[in-house]
Formats: sequence, structure tokens, C-alpha cells
Amino acid sequence: MPVKPTEQEDEYFARQEFERRKKALAEHEGRSAEEERLRILAVAAGRCPKCGAVLVAVPYRGSELDKCSRCQGVWLDVGELEQLAAEDKGFLGSVRRIFG
Ligand SMILES: [Zn+2]
Repeated sequence: MPVKPTEQEDEYFARQEFERRKKALAEHEGRSAEEERLRILAVAAGRCPKCGAVLVAVPYRGSELDKCSRCQGVWLDVGELEQLAAEDKGFLGSVRRIFG
């Protein structure tokens, strides 16, 4: 039985509508995820990612490490591990070889 052109048109427009809604949902989820990230960043800036206490800058071998005022955890920014481990033949050197 031949399909009428209007049925093909209906299917075409239904697929178009489905794709439009799918794209709108993905954009909305992307915006929501970014808004969530920015909201968390606004609250957590300068805070320990593990316990939420204030981080204190501690100078160490020419770098400035972030040390938690509560749990004593130490956090490194991008490149600081490589800088600290560059000349270290001990533990930091082995960490650099593993993660570097
Ligand atoms: Zn902490």
C-alpha cells in the first residue's frame, strides 16, 4: 500500500520536532551543569575540597601550597607537583614518574 505524501511529511516533521527537543534538552542540561559548577565555585573558592574549611597559603620550596586549616590536607595547583618533584629523587620524584 503506497504511503501518502502527507504521512511522510508528518513523520518528517515528527522527527524534526524530536531532534529539536532533544537538542534543546541537551543545551539546557549543559547550561544547568555550568550554572551548578559556577554556584559551587562561588561557595567553595578558597575552601578545602575535602572538608570545606579555609585553605591557608604555605610557602614551600619556592611554591605556595594550599594547606587546610582543619584537616591539614595539602593541595597543589596545576604544575606545582611537577615543580616540586623536578629535582626530587625520593618520594616526590616517584610520584612525578607515576602521574607525570
Ligand atoms: Zn580540609
